[in-house]
Amino acid sequence: MTVLKQLKAFAKTDRTALVNQEQQLSYRELDELSDTFARWLLDTLGKDRSPLVICGDKEIGFLPCIFGALKSGRAYVPLDSVLPDERAAQIVADVAPKVMVDFTGRKLACGARILNPAALENIFAAPKPISSGDWIKDGDPAYILFTSGSTGRPKGVPITAGNLDAFCRGLLPFYPEEGGVVLHQVSYSFDVSGCAVYAGICRGMTLFTVDHQLAADLGACFAALEKSGLTLWVSTPSFAELCVQSGRLEEGLLPQLRQFLFCGEVLTHSLCDTLSERFPKARILNTYGPTEATVLVTAAEITGKMRHSSRPLPIGKAIEGVTLRLEQNGREITKEEETGELLILGPTVGPGYFGRPDLTEKAFFTDPKTGLRGYRTGDLCYRQNGLYYYCGRADNQLKLNGYRIELEDIEANLQKLPNIRRAAVVPVRNGEGIAEYLAAFLLLREPDGLTPLKRAIALKKQAAALLPPYMIPRRLMAVESFPLNVSGKIDKKALAARLEETP
Ligand code: AMP
Repeated sequence: MTVLKQLKAFAKTDRTALVNQEQQLSYRELDELSDTFARWLLDTLGKDRSPLVICGDKEIGFLPCIFGALKSGRAYVPLDSVLPDERAAQIVADVAPKVMVDFTGRKLACGARILNPAALENIFAAPKPISSGDWIKDGDPAYILFTSGSTGRPKGVPITAGNLDAFCRGLLPFYPEEGGVVLHQVSYSFDVSGCAVYAGICRGMTLFTVDHQLAADLGACFAALEKSGLTLWVSTPSFAELCVQSGRLEEGLLPQLRQFLFCGEVLTHSLCDTLSERFPKARILNTYGPTEATVLVTAAEITGKMRHSSRPLPIGKAIEGVTLRLEQNGREITKEEETGELLILGPTVGPGYFGRPDLTEKAFFTDPKTGLRGYRTGDLCYRQNGLYYYCGRADNQLKLNGYRIELEDIEANLQKLPNIRRAAVVPVRNGEGIAEYLAAFLLLREPDGLTPLKRAIALKKQAAALLPPYMIPRRLMAVESFPLNVSGKIDKKALAARLEETP
């Protein structure tokens, strides 16, 4: 696997791989710690190659555990510390790991051996080598990421070592030749973190960590960034927007910054305009891709002409190795400006959903013409002058502050609460069509005698046991009945209109 080879190569230099507040790891240390952990996994688990679950945020030991898992020939499953116990437990039950590293101290009943930070330190303290013959092979899953699933249970997306090599091949032409400092803010459980973890390490860059705590305290975050020497910014547009609104994100803070790389959701004109005013020396890349096809599959450098056009900003062209196709009702679209579903074909397309052949069969395919593996994204796009433009989803999936959410996932979980018979969740969008927050309409089983405010507070508290914070609707309103549309389904447009009536 390329990233492991590159890690070994840079381990011979004195470069810094990771900075996390006062702590640092050199490439040599990262290589040694991950070798040691891989050896321990192999000695402890023998021939068993079940995935390693790593539960945490961005602790300094997280990255050595990731590379340790890969060097021991197994996948890792990152579980973000913000996941409530019940949701984390569902994932752990699906994965059935034999070992779980836990930086959070949460109590998860599972058959796995749990390594807390002290146990991990003990393992790291006795350096041991490992042979590259034990590393994961091309077709083996390298990680499994769990995304929102429409049934209310997260669904796992395995991505192989070969998929990640293909992703690095496609993205690296957009990176500087070697070195530099890359922002490492995106959670390990969201694949955009691969722009730092895989592409960044392949180029010998330093990963500059911004964890949840720092991201929530922008004053402290900017004070840290000022000393970072950051050359490459990687985030969702939402995080950059938050930083822009605070006013302090400008060239004086990050004088060495030369590129912004955005992925994961719509990049707006307003964000691009502000950034290009504030960072005249930096280029802005808009990239696009679903987890199922490994981080990103298109890229566009945003030019002044694009910024001044009234069209949305393009998601760009396919990166090297990737083939894109547009289809409508099974017919390939060749005409410019005609909208269809985007299909992704090539070596970055993953094997399918973890333990869900039914879902895999619906979304993944092998193209009879080319033999390439393909994935139906559910994203609607059109093409113009060789560039692709994104124009929304064909289903109920959406992005909220960069998080991928299935509305049915939230509805199914709200319906598990004791007094909720039925739930309908709608996104509230701003003038640019971007989802700003969620509103839930709820049919109660029986009157609860609470005021709307007290009810909303109580229900949010109950929902927090089942859903991560970013999936909890900001507004929760009881209804006597749901309006229905002509096909007899809940009329979400009518519900959204009610929000405008009662701001
Ligand atoms: P995820 O699997 O979390 O990376 O989410 C993938 C989905 O995010 C895609 O299928 C799109 O709907 C959306 N997405 C990703 N990148 C972009 C982008 N640059 N512009 C618009 N939507 C995007």
